[in-house]
Amino acid sequence: MGCRTMTEIPADIPFLDLAAQHAEVAIALDRAWAKITASNRFIGGSYVDDFETAFARYCGVKECVGVANGTDALELILCGLGFGPGDEIIVPANTFVATVEAIVTVGSTPVFVDVEDETLVVAAAAIEAAITERTAAAIVVHLYGQMPDMDAISEVTERAGIALIEDAAQAHGARWLDRRAGSFGHAAAFSFYPGKNLGAFGDAGAVTTHDFDLSERIRSLADHGRLIGTRHEHSASGRNSRLDALQAAVLSIKLDRLDDWNASRRAAADTYRKYLDATNCRVLQADPRSTPVHHLEIVRVPLRAQVLRALDAHRIGWGLHYPIPSHQQRPFERFARPPYPVTERAAAEIVSVPMFPTITSHDIERVCDVLVTATRGSASGTGS
Ligand SMILES: *Cc1c(COP(=O)(O)O)cnc(C)c1O
Repeated sequence: MGCRTMTEIPADIPFLDLAAQHAEVAIALDRAWAKITASNRFIGGSYVDDFETAFARYCGVKECVGVANGTDALELILCGLGFGPGDEIIVPANTFVATVEAIVTVGSTPVFVDVEDETLVVAAAAIEAAITERTAAAIVVHLYGQMPDMDAISEVTERAGIALIEDAAQAHGARWLDRRAGSFGHAAAFSFYPGKNLGAFGDAGAVTTHDFDLSERIRSLADHGRLIGTRHEHSASGRNSRLDALQAAVLSIKLDRLDDWNASRRAAADTYRKYLDATNCRVLQADPRSTPVHHLEIVRVPLRAQVLRALDAHRIGWGLHYPIPSHQQRPFERFARPPYPVTERAAAEIVSVPMFPTITSHDIERVCDVLVTATRGSASGTGS
């Protein structure tokens, strides 16, 4: 989502460089687009089927349903599982608002929990402490491309008999031990917003699940509640949330490159860590059992306003993810049961710095120089 919030000044080091990525697959993209535009078959069809099969296999699940965007994927999961008014759904306070929005849209009640200071994602103990007799599900958000301890969390949700849902919108390809994001929950939501690790040429999303019945329900709900295999019979009041053939073709082509691109992001994150180690700028700590995919490079800094001015002065792109936590946003604040000290402190300290597969070590060094110079001499604002 970085490009929505990044500075408007044209950057020497961009926040995100999609052009470099797309240049690598340009020929395949052109070929697929020519074929689809000639076929005049734009919704569903073999490109969508092929992507769904490939992405399910990639994530290690049986089923994948392509939908219109990641927010719809979340809402369709909640509808498909039958959640609505009276159901409490646990959600981290530190997330993009879409996670919370989906809960409120289906009429359920978001129950915010705070996150861990080292990773800014949720821990099993926080979920456990928030469970009541009205809890229907917990949504775990693999924010910034990191996965929390999914074994511990699965144990908590199984013991409580509640659903586990993954918001994997920022975590295509991330792993907890040897399993990928999207394969732990009853279902997972992915976004293919252009800036995500796997991005379409517009809005797109998917649901992954091991549960065939759930995937069929979601497939139907996403197609006006149409009874699968029929043309004119509708068994539910659904909506229109389908994946376009053009987007599916782009996604299939880019999926082949995803592991390489994620590995390059990992190398970039290591370089940031190396340059920011023992400075006033703090990067996230990954659990050694996890393999993050570094959707965003989050740095926590003291004197953020000063840091942002310095980045602008050096024409370095940046973003804030997210400066106002979702429990403090107007439509959701009535659900807040503060305090959420880690989320609130992070909201004031985080800055997202350039992160994309083709960023060079040299550029990372320049970004780190600016960060370190702008924060030198100030007390570390991280409280640790
Ligand atoms: C991007 C994102 C979404 C929403 O996805 P869209 O495709 O933009 O609707 C949901 N949750 C998180 C954590 C995201 O980053």
